[in-house]
Amino acid sequence: MLSENRPSRKQNSALPKVSFEFFPPKNDIMEKGLWSSIERLAPISPTFVSVTYGAGGTTRERTHATVERLLDETPLVPAAHLTCVGAPRGEVDEIVANYWQMGVRNIVALRGDPQGGMGTAYAPEPGAYVNAADLVSGISRIADFDISVSAYPEKHPESATIDADIDMLQAKVDAGAHRAITQFFFDNDVYFRYLDRVQARGLDIPIIPGILPIVHFGRMSSFAEKCGTSVPTWLAERFDGLDDDPETRQLIAVAVAAEQVIDLLDRGVDTFHFYTMNKADMVYAICRLLGLGRGSVEAAAQG
Ligand code: FAD
Repeated sequence: MLSENRPSRKQNSALPKVSFEFFPPKNDIMEKGLWSSIERLAPISPTFVSVTYGAGGTTRERTHATVERLLDETPLVPAAHLTCVGAPRGEVDEIVANYWQMGVRNIVALRGDPQGGMGTAYAPEPGAYVNAADLVSGISRIADFDISVSAYPEKHPESATIDADIDMLQAKVDAGAHRAITQFFFDNDVYFRYLDRVQARGLDIPIIPGILPIVHFGRMSSFAEKCGTSVPTWLAERFDGLDDDPETRQLIAVAVAAEQVIDLLDRGVDTFHFYTMNKADMVYAICRLLGLGRGSVEAAAQG
């Protein structure tokens, strides 16, 4: 059953809050692309911008450099992703302490994918944090960070059941997590059913929906299959036959994500996390539709 007592959009007249996820660039061209996206999205005034940590800890230096530049050169609040994979506890603790010294206050704490890649069995490395809850405890012991963790409305592929998944969410909250950000999804009813189950357990941290504007339908679909996100037939139909038509694909991707976000907003959700894929255009357009980033128009109107 969906709850019927969520505030409607009209009751909920404050502007929504948003955050953006970026990944650290691999080369100079990607670096330019990332920073032009950050510049374009900065006027939207996100609550924070997060920077991912490559599978197996492979982007440690690049994640760090991107977070440092965000702190030094922008007014944005960076959130550094961190995983348990690829380094023992001591090294992870050093990274965390160093972030605190730099002035970073937000961390997205994750277990990470197995070293063998998504779909292979996960085994913690000797001396490493064993899972995300363990990592959250470790981070909380070091300093008073604002900690985000993952949540899976369609369950994590390794979880036997949604309830087992919510057990892990509970463990992360007990360890000190402040909010969860969901894996991307396309069916809002699935998200609301998940919220109902989480709330029924008495967990009251915000579960922020992760929204993915679709850059490449094919690539998104194969990623979705690996991470357990279902891709509805109606969505596939919207992109069908458009492989050679990137302009129309982008218009459709904006329309689909805007439709999803506006439905969530209408059903009482007021905070959104966007997976930007380091591209600004679609996310910027959606945020404008939400009423964000209009400061200069309002200032001009006020004279
Ligand atoms: P956890 O919360 O520890 O576990 C997720 C679920 O998997 C649990 O609910 C549990 O039921 C189940 N599970 C975990 N371990 C086992 C086990 N051994 N046996 C059975 N079930 C198990 N990955 C990166 O590498 N870098 C990133 O920057 C990154 N950012 C992400 C951001 C978000 C918002 C999300 C949703 C995911 C991100 N990921 C990232 C992906 C994430 O690392 C993978 O999904 C990983 O497989 C699980 O990490 P977690 O923190 O979600 O795990």
